[in-house]
Amino acid sequence: MSFLAIGSIAIDHLETPFEKRENVLGGAATFISIAASYFVDKPMLVGAVGEDFGEENLNVLKEKNIDLSGLQIVKGGKTFRWHGRYHYDMNNRDTIETQLNVLSEFNPVLPNKFKEARYVCLGNLDPVIQRNVLRQVKSPKLTVCDTMNYWIENKLDDLKETLKLVDALIINDSEARLLSQSPNLVKAARLIRAMGPKILVIKKGEHGALLFTDGSVFAAPAYPLETIVDPTGAGDAFAGGFTAYLAKVGDLSERSLRKAVLYGSAMASFCVEKFGTEGLLNLSLLEIDDRYRSFLELSRIDEE
Ligand code: AMP
Repeated sequence: MSFLAIGSIAIDHLETPFEKRENVLGGAATFISIAASYFVDKPMLVGAVGEDFGEENLNVLKEKNIDLSGLQIVKGGKTFRWHGRYHYDMNNRDTIETQLNVLSEFNPVLPNKFKEARYVCLGNLDPVIQRNVLRQVKSPKLTVCDTMNYWIENKLDDLKETLKLVDALIINDSEARLLSQSPNLVKAARLIRAMGPKILVIKKGEHGALLFTDGSVFAAPAYPLETIVDPTGAGDAFAGGFTAYLAKVGDLSERSLRKAVLYGSAMASFCVEKFGTEGLLNLSLLEIDDRYRSFLELSRIDEE
């Protein structure tokens, strides 16, 4: 089934307590579409970069068989740049600098083929741009949205308009508390689902994720990794794996949604094992299925 991703495409400057890297390929749409490439053929990518993006980065996306006909390369423009620094526990980070560059004028126009997409994953971006993309897609079967505290704090009304239009929202626990104004995640889930998205995933970093649907809650564990190299993009890898798994199986049953949460978690766990997108680039389908099965094992108890 056809899959479309939109979001930032970035050149990142990353600092963890153990290592620093500059000019690393990043951005929400990058992680989403690379994760998706293991589940769907030719994921469609919508985004903008500048002339500084470079052939090498383009080749990374081409090698993952990503359809780049919706990628604008802005003449004389500079690619979005983000500088992040992680704290010692790696669950927290500070944004040192954000340069919007070509994203400040980003007005996505979808190629005709992209308008037919059935599965749409809206990466973290201005909710007005997310809505603008949704308006162009003719008959999506599933629309999934990500967001962040910046939009909750600065563009709440626009975000709420976007939330009315999407089927699923994927956010982390602190964002869920902020959006719902409730400290309790179960209550937060009820309040957020009333804003529009009937499928809600709340990610809890190294503590797993919760899936809320009609009358049901599913808890996924987190993979117990001993070494986390770089958490950048884990949320986007989750969103890409989650949405593209559903595109692959073509149904939105409770069972498939639960499996999608585990496949999303598997992609996130691969992502954090290396810097930037590196952990997602050379996976085999067997490895992904093995990791999925490890997630199942994590909370399985044999009946006596
Ligand atoms: P995540 O770790 O899932 O939040 O995603 C990290 C990626 O998001 C990085 O590669 C950044 O380039 C990108 N990013 C950071 N801040 C923003 C922002 N304000 N808007 C869009 N993308 C961003």
